[in-house]
Amino acid sequence: MTKIIDGKAFAEGLGAKISQSIPHFAEQTGRRPGLAVVLVGTDPASEIYVRSKGRMARKLGMESFEHILDEGVSQEELLALVARLNADDSVDGILIQLPLPGHLDSLELVSAIHPAKDVDGLHPVSAGLLASGLPGLVSCTPLGCLMLLESVLGSLSGLDAIVVGRSILVGKPMAQLLLARNCTVTIAHSRTANLAAKVAQADIVVAAVGQADMIKGDWIKPGATVIDVGTSRVIRDGQQKLVGDVEFASAAKTAGAITPVPGGVGPMTIMTLMHNTLLAAYRRNRLADPA
Ligand code: NDP
Repeated sequence: MTKIIDGKAFAEGLGAKISQSIPHFAEQTGRRPGLAVVLVGTDPASEIYVRSKGRMARKLGMESFEHILDEGVSQEELLALVARLNADDSVDGILIQLPLPGHLDSLELVSAIHPAKDVDGLHPVSAGLLASGLPGLVSCTPLGCLMLLESVLGSLSGLDAIVVGRSILVGKPMAQLLLARNCTVTIAHSRTANLAAKVAQADIVVAAVGQADMIKGDWIKPGATVIDVGTSRVIRDGQQKLVGDVEFASAAKTAGAITPVPGGVGPMTIMTLMHNTLLAAYRRNRLADPA
């Protein structure tokens, strides 16, 4: 019987644990953990993400600082804001909502965030710490995928894993996390030859491409665990639907466990951001990591 991995329920459980760790922080520091989110412009999807991050932070008992800036803001003004947030002791985590308008240099801005406050885990220092096996803040989506995998499989040691996609946001940190858990990892991308055969060897498949249903159900090794990060909007039966990279109906017949889209990885991404903010707050104040 295939297990459908309920990311929403897992995220709610994680949220409950996060809120339980806030009173101890408040007792020790006299304040609550603070998350600053920077949004430039009026992209509707980004506005929704920023609003829901702020709402979740407040719901769990954190402070939320939202900086909504005009589309035309300059690189220098944004760098100055990041510098102020870096210096502000009430801010434990800084997130710049991507993508930014074309005149802005995202890499320079993300790199200006102090790594101790890099709750999105996208700073080159965070990537380097992860690759070196050192403690740091890990990109939210792959961290959420890892939590789901461990909830299903327990130890991942010795398993063959394939990560389809090699972005800095998802694919690369995901591969590093699996390697650190002693998986044997294949990283596939748009130039990979014989993808179907490679997927068929894997005990763990993480799909992070953004192409609807590109991974076919009959590629999946029987009993494999499938984590579908991809999200694509398609029209099916005259209705708009959100679908993943994996052909869900057929893959669910072969896989041992699989995340649905929506309701799998998505709810984990926002909760791991909260988890990272809590972790950053504890570490910046030299408190032992919360349980
Ligand atoms: P990117 O576009 O940055 O990366 C996509 C990757 O897929 C690239 O490495 C690309 O290869 C690879 N790729 C493209 N075509 C193929 C192919 N035919 N076969 C194999 N690999 C291919 O996307 P992201 O990593 O940012 O996001 C991936 C997906 O995950 C998107 O749908 C995004 O919306 C979703 N997402 C969902 C989140 C959630 O919370 N649910 C959070 C973050 C992302 P190459 O490098 O060679 O170009």
